[in-house]
Amino acid sequence: MNALRTFFASVSEANQRVALIQQPWLEDFVHWCGDGEDAVLHGHRSFRGKRSPAVTSSGWCLGMSRSARRVDEVPEHAR
Ligand SMILES: [Zn+2]
Repeated sequence: MNALRTFFASVSEANQRVALIQQPWLEDFVHWCGDGEDAVLHGHRSFRGKRSPAVTSSGWCLGMSRSARRVDEVPEHAR
């Protein structure tokens, strides 16, 4: 039963990420990216509600995807 719950949670997370990718303007709403000391504030627009529409339930945002891609795009010899 736990495996089934994990499967549905991962499907839900994937659906939320696709929704954010299809609505890139949501990244403009203020939200925290990352945890602890590495957390960075993203966005410049305020929103009403408890949770920013720019992050999934696990805390992923489109900006995290972009910064991860930038690291990957740097040639290995330049890192
Ligand atoms: Zn972000």
